[in-house]
Amino acid sequence: MSESMERAQPANDRHPLPREGDRGEGHPTSRRGFLATSAAALAGLTLAPGIRLVEIAAAKPDNEPVTAKVRWGMLIDTTRCQSGCTECVSACGKENGLSEVTKPRTDAQWIRKIDLKDLKTGHALSLPMMCQHCAHPPCVDVCPTGASFKRADGIVLVDRHICIGCRYCMMACPYKARSFVHEPHTDQNPEVPRGQGCVESCTLCVHRVDRGGTPACVEACAAAGHNAMLFGDLNDAESAISKRIREVKTTQVRADLKLDLGVRYEGI
Ligand code: SF4
Ligand code: SF4
Repeated sequence: MSESMERAQPANDRHPLPREGDRGEGHPTSRRGFLATSAAALAGLTLAPGIRLVEIAAAKPDNEPVTAKVRWGMLIDTTRCQSGCTECVSACGKENGLSEVTKPRTDAQWIRKIDLKDLKTGHALSLPMMCQHCAHPPCVDVCPTGASFKRADGIVLVDRHICIGCRYCMMACPYKARSFVHEPHTDQNPEVPRGQGCVESCTLCVHRVDRGGTPACVEACAAAGHNAMLFGDLNDAESAISKRIREVKTTQVRADLKLDLGVRYEGI
């Protein structure tokens, strides 16, 4: 691999903004990473025949099937996540046409903020919780119609055309990640169709990912200056998310269940 390619931002790292004061050149959010991301518009630029200055963002053409070569995942740094901040929640709602949560017991929530406090030490944490995109998803195991399914790239979805609203998946999910849609929708995003009587949960913003984009929550967290969320390809040893997972201690929530989660946490 050429020097220029080694230095390029890996195509499967999607962290939209650099973190302030952070973390050395190898980090995805370093100045170098930011410059490489910004340079995506120059993706065709070559230093010499056959050597790209930056890799082209990995948008999946519609006529190509999803591949298991990629496994999309997210790493959430709880030391950066701010208590009281709900930018990720708002961005998710806006992106996916969810109305503001006024009845938390019944309104659809694809991502929610959780504040935790260790009663012995007083140590407090704030973190977002959403579908963990399990490699062995119980929601898929129990679904009687096949509406709950996992794509080859690890994204777990619900096919609204097949979902009968039995809610078995909601009972099976250990993370309370799924919601039942009780009320009719009036203002939907055409890219994210929803339906009364169906179950739904975080899609990892699959409509964005398939275009080579970044989930809305990740983008909003970066825009707020917190940079607590990193999205990328867990199968790519050179991706920023894989490197970070090798560098620091990360946690899968309820790792004892051995579901092999796509969402990992740092700092808990
Ligand atoms: Fe299914 Fe819940 Fe796992 Fe998401 S977190 S894949 S909804 S079991
Ligand atoms: Fe919502 Fe997209 Fe973030 Fe999932 S990845 S919580 S759908 S904004």
